[in-house]
Amino acid sequence: MKPIKIDAYIPTIMETVRKSLENVKACDTKMNLSWDISDLFKAAVKDLLKPRIDITSDALVKMISLVGSCSTELAWHCLIDRPETDHFIVTDLLMYPQEVNGTAVDSNDEKYPIWLNSIDDATFERMKGQGHSHVNMQSTPSAADTTFYQKLLTNIRDYYIFFIMNKRQEIWVNLYDVQNNLIYEEKDIVLSFVDSAGNDIDLWTAEQLDFIEKTPLGQKKIEIPTFNTQVERKNNDFEYTRSERVSYAGVPLTVYGTELPEIAWTPAERTAHQNRQRELQFEEYGSNGRYNGYFSGYRD
Ligand SMILES: [Zn+2]
Repeated sequence: MKPIKIDAYIPTIMETVRKSLENVKACDTKMNLSWDISDLFKAAVKDLLKPRIDITSDALVKMISLVGSCSTELAWHCLIDRPETDHFIVTDLLMYPQEVNGTAVDSNDEKYPIWLNSIDDATFERMKGQGHSHVNMQSTPSAADTTFYQKLLTNIRDYYIFFIMNKRQEIWVNLYDVQNNLIYEEKDIVLSFVDSAGNDIDLWTAEQLDFIEKTPLGQKKIEIPTFNTQVERKNNDFEYTRSERVSYAGVPLTVYGTELPEIAWTPAERTAHQNRQRELQFEEYGSNGRYNGYFSGYRD
């Protein structure tokens, strides 16, 4: 966390300089002053809570899709709600007229103001964020990005959120709380992804992982796939269809005409499967070797 502008701290800095000057002796020809300026505002920010920024699944999917689909940089605006002082929700993205060259993106000077004018007031009020792609580079801001952020903030009175995403889906985020002269950096922010009902997807994922049982190697339970074959005779006297239902550990895997999903067979499962295949072959041709069925849609 750091201040956006240092102005407010100038009197404190000057006071520190004045005190140092008091200690200068007559024989001194040089004086060095050095201190960590972050100490100046540490006290001011020590009790601040981490703001929470939620990105809805809709907005996240659009972000991933845009960044993934474009081989150059591109930028978008974010529509953001602020239900509480320290809670922000990114609900949607808006693309705007822009020009891209190599590794930089800038709004189109001619078209951007026209586009801005076409935005209704309610939407404009929620346009509180900007994001851009770093394609395959790291998702940390360049010097040009930081300069652009400072320029953009001259028109902002309350807050603004900046995002950078790359094709590895790494997201960088900073919240500029202009009102309180503070930049919340990545480590100062709780970034969450939420579904349309506002449920935290990380929490959901953690709950789903409880379904996975880790079995020590060599003690894997062997489940034999079971097969349920139904032969149907078609109108034609000579043609039959067979619907094949395969289940594995009680869970249906495939039905007639659909592809059998890949299964990580154990050797025992593989043998059982092959034995059953042979049985099916036998049924197919019959003991007299006569082909008496029509069979398709089953794959090993
Ligand atoms: Zn950038």
